[in-house]
Amino acid sequence: MLKVKQLSKYFHGKQVLHEIDLEIKEGEIVTIIGPSGSGKSTLLRCLNLLEIPESGDVLFEETNLLDKKTNLNEIREQIGMVFQSFNLFPNKTVGENITLALKLLKKMDEAQANEIALGLLKRVGLEDKFNVYPSKLSGGQKQRVAIARSLALKPRVMLFDEPTSALDPEMVTEVLDVMKELGEEGMTMVIVTHEMGFARQVASRAIFIDGGKILEDTTPETLFTRPTHQRTKEFLAKVL
Ligand code: ADP
Ligand code: MG
Repeated sequence: MLKVKQLSKYFHGKQVLHEIDLEIKEGEIVTIIGPSGSGKSTLLRCLNLLEIPESGDVLFEETNLLDKKTNLNEIREQIGMVFQSFNLFPNKTVGENITLALKLLKKMDEAQANEIALGLLKRVGLEDKFNVYPSKLSGGQKQRVAIARSLALKPRVMLFDEPTSALDPEMVTEVLDVMKELGEEGMTMVIVTHEMGFARQVASRAIFIDGGKILEDTTPETLFTRPTHQRTKEFLAKVL
């Protein structure tokens, strides 16, 4: 579904991703772990060209995102993204946050968009929050709304960048549970996370990245119990 070939990315002359090769198949739940600054977010952001790599290719199905003829907006509708910081529109209600893209991009009328939004809110357990403003929600609730919002355009794949890192501990589970359910429904997902328990239990594949390079790309079981690289062992010793 997604393919990255020989991708390199630089910031101010410093290389932060080194010739990355990566393929994500439909239905896979891929978790990316690694130290702070190792390039996890940059890699994720390259998958929908929020960051433009200096060399290499990014393909969604057969479409090369770096091809000038590619309609990026059309592709991005199919690649949902959820950030650490929720990024909800504070001056819009929960319902409006979700219906906005449906009305603007899909030209849906109010009633139709509201119905979809309500369905999505049900899915994340927040159907009673439709008319509420984000400021009235807990962090966990905000993140669940952000997930519902990114599902509105029916993406084929979801990218999560540390979705629970900004949450109080007691709210982490409610967000992880929503993600777990999504995975069980067959959603293809790429998840950068520090939740090692989640990575181990839910992911079908685990990647360890360090210094802008993929050092391990294997099953969670293997990564957590028999990693190949010393760097992985050191990282796991610190976080487990
Ligand atoms: P991670 O998500 O693993 O913590 P990042 O992908 O955010 O790592 O960052 C990888 C490297 O790129 C770091 O050295 C970081 O400082 C640098 N970097 C990330 N984004 C930018 C940016 N917009 N401008 C300059 N440097 C950046
Ligand atoms: Mg990051």
